[in-house]
Amino acid sequence: MEVQRLRILSVGAHPHDLMHAAGTCGVHTRLGDTVTWVSVTNGAFTHNEDLADELLKPPAQRDPAIVNQTQEQYAAMKEQELRTAAALFGVTDVRVLPFLDRPFRLKNHPEAIDMLRDIILETRPDVLIPGYAHLSRHHRLNTGLPDDHNEAAYAALEARTAAQIPRYGTSEQIHKIAATYYPGLYYEKDQYDFIVDVSDWFEQIVEAELMFKSQGHTPAYARRRIEVELGQVGWFSGTLYGEPFLFERPALVSKITVPASMLRQAREGSKKHISRISGQLPDKPD
Ligand SMILES: [Zn+2]
Repeated sequence: MEVQRLRILSVGAHPHDLMHAAGTCGVHTRLGDTVTWVSVTNGAFTHNEDLADELLKPPAQRDPAIVNQTQEQYAAMKEQELRTAAALFGVTDVRVLPFLDRPFRLKNHPEAIDMLRDIILETRPDVLIPGYAHLSRHHRLNTGLPDDHNEAAYAALEARTAAQIPRYGTSEQIHKIAATYYPGLYYEKDQYDFIVDVSDWFEQIVEAELMFKSQGHTPAYARRRIEVELGQVGWFSGTLYGEPFLFERPALVSKITVPASMLRQAREGSKKHISRISGQLPDKPD
């Protein structure tokens, strides 16, 4: 069978949002696929926990090194963290667009669409992972109010459309993205369409989570967060750790295909299953 080489474009509102599909990106770069990460904002106003802690204190008790850090310095730190985290997953094409967050609103920065369109025309992805948390109860984003995550996702979707529309008077080669998948981490489990087995990537994901020191992450926090977040998705799908996704629309297939990992689960017997989801057997998805 011909090996399918994919180009994947993952877009987040803030640098850390790229983590929601990071293990999956690792799976794909290891297979020889190409992955680009784009953060629509530099995240300067998101999760500066050190500063938030200092500003809870009376002015005389604050640490000047933290309080005097500029937003540019904090954003630069965050971008470096993102690049280091990306490298753990074999992702070397990382871009941070020059927009401020909290709030990022597309109506104020419609040029974000053209910037993302240019990236699409340059990288020519087959798969778009636009972020998108509008149904999230966890983040209380299903209020109908605008939010950085929704707005960044809309920008990516608008750019996707713009990239496939010819522009008059140019010689640009247009591009159509084959499939769009939304990261499912903040959706309800019964909304997941598929789960990528990222058990082999658990340690890298924990390590990447720890890279985000700008957000106050500690080793205990990083491990616990991934154990709980990706562990419960793994548990739901009969493996150790998983990243869930939603289809944008039903997939067109030429026939029913059952993934080898699901056939294996059906045939392995309970004792082996229990050992495997306890991490006591090498867990090799197809
Ligand atoms: Zn975010």
